[in-house]
Amino acid sequence: MNPVAAADPAIWSLIQAEEARQREDLELIASENYASAAVMAAAGSCLTNKYAEGLPGKRYYGGCGIVDQVEDIARERALALFDAPDGNGARHGMGVNVQPHSGAQANAAVYLSCLKPGDCLLGLDLSNGGHLTHGSPANSSGKLYRAVHYKVDSTGRIDMNVVREIALRERPRVIVTGASAYPRLWDFAAFRSVADEVGALLLADIAHVAGLVAVGLHPSPVPHCDYVTTTTHKTLRGPRGGIAMAKGDAMKALNSAVFPGSQGGPLMHIIAAKAVAFGEALRPEFRAYQQQVLDNAQAMATRLQERGFALVSGGTDNHLMLMDLSDKPYSGKDAEEALGRAGITVNKNTVPNEKRSPFVTSGIRLGTPAMTTRGCVTADAVRIADLIADALDHREDADRIGRVKAEIHALCAVHPVPGLV
Ligand SMILES: *Cc1c(COP(=O)(O)O)cnc(C)c1O
Repeated sequence: MNPVAAADPAIWSLIQAEEARQREDLELIASENYASAAVMAAAGSCLTNKYAEGLPGKRYYGGCGIVDQVEDIARERALALFDAPDGNGARHGMGVNVQPHSGAQANAAVYLSCLKPGDCLLGLDLSNGGHLTHGSPANSSGKLYRAVHYKVDSTGRIDMNVVREIALRERPRVIVTGASAYPRLWDFAAFRSVADEVGALLLADIAHVAGLVAVGLHPSPVPHCDYVTTTTHKTLRGPRGGIAMAKGDAMKALNSAVFPGSQGGPLMHIIAAKAVAFGEALRPEFRAYQQQVLDNAQAMATRLQERGFALVSGGTDNHLMLMDLSDKPYSGKDAEEALGRAGITVNKNTVPNEKRSPFVTSGIRLGTPAMTTRGCVTADAVRIADLIADALDHREDADRIGRVKAEIHALCAVHPVPGLV
């Protein structure tokens, strides 16, 4: 019997219900993925019991000899993934801290390490695909620092001339690249030249595209940026968490900004799970997986457009797409709810020039990382796009929605989640 089942039936039954939901429904939330059984086992291990404030070899607690080795392996693998992006083993002099509890914590630590309260930070606008931690007034990054934002242009893409104009006017101390809902590639070299022109530091927050970056299917920020942060649970397919990297001497201040600056003891069980996930990401199968993520996104984007749905920027270069429903008689919230009834999990999302509130929105964000982990290929992606279109076109028709749901559940049954079998 599972120990949770014996000790706490209420929580156990909810864990089982959630596992059934993850097995049966189709997960298209672009920021979600399914960690492997090995990653989940490491995250559920006895390492949760260990206090290890400080860094390997320099801890404030005894008994850290073993967890030191775990953290060293996690750091080595993270650098093998991200600091050697050219494939020839050449490194760019990045250091890494694998302790941030999340992507938000990684960004907060970078800011704490290089900004003073009131300093200017320039990032992508939240309603244009940016993240709360890129200077939203609701987040500490927008309360502690003077945040200014660039937006996408009328074609849905970032215009570097506009970024440059804003940077010349505002003189930011840090320029932030990266997004939660931007379907196109980032030109880190162009951002570097703007940063150099205004004397700014450059941060790449690759929380979404990290898995693609790790295998060379998205340009690497490492040659161009002072700081790189990422989550570990999105395309990277590890445990929920973050890492923060800095080039050269900046790493020392960044380490202090993580601990004691903004966190206490590291989650050693999660660091072990990060090491396991990084090990998986270094294998050739991971590159094949990321290529399939891209192929599936292309196939889905093409079919959705054929079915009359507009995509922000007209398509995608990465793992996600943003459906713009502004020309439809229903909102992003309505669409999320209708797809939910059809067994398809997505999130409503603001679109550029949004006219509705963030709780309603005019968009839906779709991503292929999770469905690809469960083995869906391009023919499945095309079929899923058709089922999404059917469900939205007939969202008031319970019978039709029921048929879509049955087909989605059948598709999920033949593509079991590897970590849950
Ligand atoms: C998801 C995300 C984060 C935050 O990650 P959490 O682990 O949820 O804190 C930060 N930046 C970007 C661009 C993201 O997409």
